[in-house]
Amino acid sequence: MTKIRILDYPDAKLKRIGKKVEVINEEIKQVIADMFETHYATENCAALAATQLDFADPWAITVIDFSENKDEPLCLINPEIVKMEGEQFEYEACMSVHPDHLRERVKRAERIVVQALNERGEPIELSAEGFMAKCLQHEIDHLNGMTYLDRISPLKRERLLEKLRKTRR
Ligand code: ZN
Repeated sequence: MTKIRILDYPDAKLKRIGKKVEVINEEIKQVIADMFETHYATENCAALAATQLDFADPWAITVIDFSENKDEPLCLINPEIVKMEGEQFEYEACMSVHPDHLRERVKRAERIVVQALNERGEPIELSAEGFMAKCLQHEIDHLNGMTYLDRISPLKRERLLEKLRKTRR
């Protein structure tokens, strides 16, 4: 397995859109294994999307595990939100946006339903709320070329980017 480099905002590659997976072949299995390897090797990581990793041409895949013992891996392929309800406004950080220093509250749906394929290529439907719903919306945004910075007000974004510039000096 290989650890893949996590892209750093504002890398233009973060705007890439994940390619839809058609078949679960050896390449896809390897990508998923490498994504979990990268996830578990990264401190305080809840989830990763393939589009925030330095793959040549990333697939629409996300890996998630925020369990305490890191033993509840969830892999979603071609995930799509089919239902959104309610609202939450919680802090988010991103492994691609200076995760140790930057976070901001983001408006998200409180409950969502997601359709995806699992790592065996079987269609699944998943209902999520709270932290899991937030996490899935964040990752699915990545697969559509977005970060949480695209979801906050221009003023807050400017403040965050200013902090980002300072921490990099
Ligand atoms: Zn992120």
